[in-house]
Amino acid sequence: MAELNPGPRPAGDDAVLPFEVAPLDVRGRAIQMGPAIDALLARHTYPDAVSKLVAEAVVLAVLLGSSLKFDGKFILQTETDGPVDMLVADYRTSGEVRAYARFDAERVAAAEAAGKAGPGMLLGTGTLAMTIDQGVYTSRYQGVVPLEGQSLEEVAHTYFRQSEQIPTRVRLAVGEIHQRENGRMQRAWRAGGLIVQFLPAAPDRMRQPDLPGGDAPEGVEVDLPDEDDAWVEAQSLVGTVEDHELTDPAVPVERLLYRLFHERGVRVFTPVAIADNCSCSRERVAGLLSRFTQDEIDDSIEDGRIVVTCEFCGTHYDFDPAEFADAEPEDGPN
Ligand SMILES: [Zn+2]
Repeated sequence: MAELNPGPRPAGDDAVLPFEVAPLDVRGRAIQMGPAIDALLARHTYPDAVSKLVAEAVVLAVLLGSSLKFDGKFILQTETDGPVDMLVADYRTSGEVRAYARFDAERVAAAEAAGKAGPGMLLGTGTLAMTIDQGVYTSRYQGVVPLEGQSLEEVAHTYFRQSEQIPTRVRLAVGEIHQRENGRMQRAWRAGGLIVQFLPAAPDRMRQPDLPGGDAPEGVEVDLPDEDDAWVEAQSLVGTVEDHELTDPAVPVERLLYRLFHERGVRVFTPVAIADNCSCSRERVAGLLSRFTQDEIDDSIEDGRIVVTCEFCGTHYDFDPAEFADAEPEDGPN
């Protein structure tokens, strides 16, 4: 069982590869992002530390959102008190992603100068919400976990432990490569990640030790229930994944999965292509403006025009205010 089945085709860059390690009752998904993450970040002028954080959020949204079995949207959003006070990444089940960060440039620069610009430090304290949206006719599902200076990787573990109770390990990494393009050296962002989940047929094998309580005196060993051997093995294998293996174009995801799981036998499924694509449109923005009151319309006019900029992709939508003059608000209170 040392063979990795060839799969329909190599996933390549910008495609999520679902996989299964049946002898360990483990399922997961892996991705390496190249041109899509580079293009997404290139549309913004974020400081490097913020770009890194946004890329991590995109990879996490892709890894989590690509498990949805229906048409919809997975939205990951943080609201915190750190230099990056809001971070949004959303994944549509069509494979399209978009993301943006709101941040205080001075605080980010200070954090970078102090060497304290790691993802967890940039976010600070607040919450991470994960929303599954299946469209207007269904209710939204939302899970919220506290963020207290951890990385997105760590907060994902907290989420799965508390909300889903599925033993889960997530790895995220972001890096840059230098490549020659049109005779010049260019920087390009890359990102990658891996999620593994322990899903045995017998649910009692999924037991996880509770987090050590606060009552135990320091230095006293707390007796924790043992984790299942298969899950212990899977976690220790995932623990060997180096950041560069997740972003290096010379290490395709199939090769990484083979390195990790070849002794047990890993099976890969059809990859799902990911595209950097915003869902905004002129019609949508106009629809939004048409629900504004006349006062709100008046407040939005600058130099005789209303210009709305999409925060996700930077597209400017330019309107003549007359289009919305005296319009009755469609869903307004009256
Ligand atoms: Zn947009």
